[in-house]
Amino acid sequence: MLAADAALNRDAGAGPVAAPDIIAVVKANAYGHGAVGVARALEEAGAQMLAVADIEEGIELRDAGITLPILVFGALSVSEVDGLFTHGLTPTISSPGAGRALEQAARARGTTLSYHLKVDTGLNRLGFRHDNLGRTLQALLASPVLSLEAVYTHFSSADEPDVASVEAQRRAFDTACAHLVACGAAPVRRHAANSAALLRDSRLWFDAVRPGLLLYGMAPGALHTAMDLRPAMTLTSRVVAVKGVRTGEAVGYGGRFAAERPTTLAVIPAGYADGLDRRLEGRGAVLIRGRRAPIVGAVSMDMLTADVTEISDVSPGDEVVLLGSQGGAAWQQIDAREMAAAIGTIPYEIVCRLGSRIARVTETAIDDETID
Ligand SMILES: *Cc1c(COP(=O)(O)O)cnc(C)c1O
Repeated sequence: MLAADAALNRDAGAGPVAAPDIIAVVKANAYGHGAVGVARALEEAGAQMLAVADIEEGIELRDAGITLPILVFGALSVSEVDGLFTHGLTPTISSPGAGRALEQAARARGTTLSYHLKVDTGLNRLGFRHDNLGRTLQALLASPVLSLEAVYTHFSSADEPDVASVEAQRRAFDTACAHLVACGAAPVRRHAANSAALLRDSRLWFDAVRPGLLLYGMAPGALHTAMDLRPAMTLTSRVVAVKGVRTGEAVGYGGRFAAERPTTLAVIPAGYADGLDRRLEGRGAVLIRGRRAPIVGAVSMDMLTADVTEISDVSPGDEVVLLGSQGGAAWQQIDAREMAAAIGTIPYEIVCRLGSRIARVTETAIDDETID
């Protein structure tokens, strides 16, 4: 377990840390929560910028009337850069080639374009290598039509107890930022921290932080925090049928679950097409009438079955909670961390995968809670 409160990790003697700007990450349909609804809530709550993975995600938000600045993290393909100009999105430039393509596009339109520069400090994915900037950045920084607004990096292991790599990346980023100034760039804003880095050390906050998972009420990895986190998502369905099976009868595709006693099953219209993993068979549970009902038999495309033998009076129409709570006790809650642990993945994957046919309903607006 990691101590995860930045306030606890401040250098002894260092003064209070200025609150960084929030670049709220709403990529992948806001981690499955519904990008437009989440973006509206974040805009209202005071986020300074939103971030998405690609131009199409940015366009969806603009079309819905979102006016906050929007950063696009991903690599750009030449065919789609139009959207940056037509929808006022801020690109990431992470290679000299992308710089040249955007320079050309901006010139062709007779306009200038602000961008964030991505420096790779050890994740070894996108970004200019931090140790080679002198050679790769000159043309980009010299462009009269491209305007450097911020520089950023991304950590590989901020949610693991491996402090060494985080520290190495932090130092490489510091050096790269100093190098930028030496290359003639005006001092620019800097950002680096995803949720895990944000929680672990205030020295990683720089001028802005980029939380994703944390915004949705979950702490990443093994991090624990004193923050009052509540999962933003509740996933519910209803029992559509109740079925009795005799001892020895098999249930579902493959017949892998055979009833060892007279068994009552609730049929629930939610399956892997909705993002519920097939590995939940025999491992996961749902909540019905405030009780846990184990998922038995195959999770099929559109349906799953839960054993409700122990729960009296289950009827069609009863609420089923797949993620969320049904009562105040700890065992009456199922969150994405629990579901992820049951099938050997991470909570990110659980929420991001939720299918498009599930209606996203905004239950309550963010009231007096602001994200500062
Ligand atoms: C997804 C992403 C984040 C947010 O990560 P979380 O772990 O969800 O906080 C931040 N920065 C970049 C570049 C990302 O791709």
